[in-house]
Amino acid sequence: MRTKHRTTLVLILLITAMLWGCSPNETHTAAPSLTPTDISTSTATTAPTASPTPTPTPLPLNGQQTQYFIEANIDYYNRFITASSRSIYTNKTNSPINEMVFIIYPTIFQNAIYIKSVEYGDGSDITNYRWESHRMVIPLEEPLAPGDQIEFVHDFELYMPNREGVFGQTGRQLNLAYWFPFIPPRTDDGWMAYEISIINSQIVGEHLVFESTDFDVTIRFADRRENFKIAAGTLPEEIDDVIHYQMPLSRTFTLSISDIYTLTEREANGIKIQSFAFPEEASAGEAAADLAAKAITLYSDLYGSPERNLVSIVEADFLHGMEFDGLVLLSRGFYMFYNGTPETNLTMITPHEVSHQWFFSLVGNNQAMEPWLDESLATYSEALFYEEYHPELVDWWWANRVDGHSPAGYVDNTIYLDGGYEAYRNSVYLNGAHFVQDLRETMGDEAFFSLLKDYVKTNRYTIVSSSDFWSLANDHTQADLTPIITEYFSHATTP
Ligand SMILES: [Zn+2]
Repeated sequence: MRTKHRTTLVLILLITAMLWGCSPNETHTAAPSLTPTDISTSTATTAPTASPTPTPTPLPLNGQQTQYFIEANIDYYNRFITASSRSIYTNKTNSPINEMVFIIYPTIFQNAIYIKSVEYGDGSDITNYRWESHRMVIPLEEPLAPGDQIEFVHDFELYMPNREGVFGQTGRQLNLAYWFPFIPPRTDDGWMAYEISIINSQIVGEHLVFESTDFDVTIRFADRRENFKIAAGTLPEEIDDVIHYQMPLSRTFTLSISDIYTLTEREANGIKIQSFAFPEEASAGEAAADLAAKAITLYSDLYGSPERNLVSIVEADFLHGMEFDGLVLLSRGFYMFYNGTPETNLTMITPHEVSHQWFFSLVGNNQAMEPWLDESLATYSEALFYEEYHPELVDWWWANRVDGHSPAGYVDNTIYLDGGYEAYRNSVYLNGAHFVQDLRETMGDEAFFSLLKDYVKTNRYTIVSSSDFWSLANDHTQADLTPIITEYFSHATTP
């Protein structure tokens, strides 16, 4: 569900059009090549020894994940935040890095961020950076060798735009997604950094790719702390109004804050659920908590532990749903039209977004170029939810959620496909659900569910590719998967 509010779109379109105007070699209509954007000025320093292994080794970890130490002071009623973010980055690739890249998402919105200073860890100023779209590119004085570490400090101010969205503030909610400078994943081919896809004035999919990283975040309020409820992806420690979060191995650190939230708490499989809603929809907020608890119970059984202590479900003051690590935002429309029956968007989309805790948070993927890896599985997870809890409505789910929208198109479309948002949804999400159903029928239930469990376990905290998926699928079945790939995929990715 990615239907963006129209006014938001116009704003973003105007602003991004300005950004694109600054980089004439990029247009929003041309689909990028299948290789990641390599922003670094790759010199001829390809590794002289040991050629890369044939299959990409899992990204980061071994304690080398990027670490962010962030301090923020939030002036809610003045919509103003001062913050400092220290990033510690280790080169986990086999080649030296000549330029560092930070994605600074708030620059997409006019005057939403002011970068006060950028420094190296030793306090020396960095002034030679340049902008490429919404990315800050920092040429390094000397290349960062494989295994070496580097540290940056960004001091910045956020002037929260008055808008409905994942980054913005309305009269009743402050949403802080992608709010600090962050480093995209890097492979030996370059940075995994992409442009937003806007086709026919609509944003298509998500263009950001995230590594699993460690977050240490401290926030304080300029106003009276007791006024606010804070939704986050993990539970804080709070001493004297200083609120401290530690969230290891997470792809995002997102907050949603309001002075009017109602809060419903549940627990499922040892995982706490906090459901935040606006007072008018408090009972739908309770229903969302129950739905999330059921979803977590089912998916923990099917996919394994999500390795989280909290999932926050938040009624969003905008009209789509969006997943983050440990937190999901769900359209207020789902709450306003919730009628207490399972034949509703709230019942369909809450499990969808919760399932992204496995297919996005735990197992990452390239959301711009291979969005099917999380979205087809998240959409099919809805079907599994109905199969478990409302088996009499499985046919209803297929008819209303999928087949009523004429699913068609290649499941492995990118967010830059020609047809825009509807073609994207109809292929990646909806035809994606049919693909997963066909895969299940071809493999048989036992092999199919053992594949999914193994897929999550094997690939947690990494960024998977299509070939990782197919190679593991073939390990779990003797069945010939070629007909499915031929029917649903544009690229033959049989290993
Ligand atoms: Zn999704």
